Amino acid sequence: MQKLAFLVPKSMIEDNYKQRGLRGKLVRKLRQKGIRDERLLEAIAKVPRHVFFDDALLGHAYEDKAFPIGEGQTISQPYTVAFQTEKLEIKAGDKVLEIGTGSGYQACILLEMGAKVYTIEYNRALYQKTREFLPELGYNPFFFFGDGSKGLPVRAPYDKIIVTAGAPVVPDALVTQLGENGILVVPVGNRDKQLMVKLTKQKGALIKEEFDFFSFVPLLGEHGWKSQ
Ligand code: SAM
Repeated sequence: MQKLAFLVPKSMIEDNYKQRGLRGKLVRKLRQKGIRDERLLEAIAKVPRHVFFDDALLGHAYEDKAFPIGEGQTISQPYTVAFQTEKLEIKAGDKVLEIGTGSGYQACILLEMGAKVYTIEYNRALYQKTREFLPELGYNPFFFFGDGSKGLPVRAPYDKIIVTAGAPVVPDALVTQLGENGILVVPVGNRDKQLMVKLTKQKGALIKEEFDFFSFVPLLGEHGWKSQ
């Protein structure tokens, strides 16, 4: 099994002026790229992205790029995290379902913005490691293991749902589990590139918006792709 990148002992989680400076630079870059939500930018300035990287990649932690986290999965590019989160229009107290826990970085951003986060992961090793690691950083979403392409009906409805893997179609179950005025942000397309789709539920109807193309690892499971 490939080493999981973010298994750092708590004693080694350091956040110095250099790393805070690099985060400030990243925030300026995201602002230049069009991200406007100040509470989101503040969250990105706070969450230490470097602790999700192993030593060999540490110097790249504040580049605006996706990086491997083990198990063939990635921590998403900061711009992608920011773009999806901005489209969710997060308000403090929102109940958010995240499909694809991965490293847990996206969940930390949502928690910093005051959301109550339910996060589900399909890869057991990632689920276990992230469930252990995030509380060490002081972040406590509700962790679930399973097929998030079916949503998480046991805790529905949600104010917001974010899918952080590329889906072949919008999973119906996620639309069903969205509350009134709820927002679902999901990348939809083929295995190489996906269009970012935002669905807003209003009076039972769905308002659909489409944005740019992105490139995610595949959403697996019953309403996703059948293999990685
Ligand atoms: N949000 C993550 C972060 O902040 O690091 C990045 C997620 S990574 C791009 C996509 C994740 O989705 C992977 O960890 C993958 O195992 C997970 N995934 C794929 N299919 C899934 C499914 N059906 N249910 C839940 N998680 C799934």
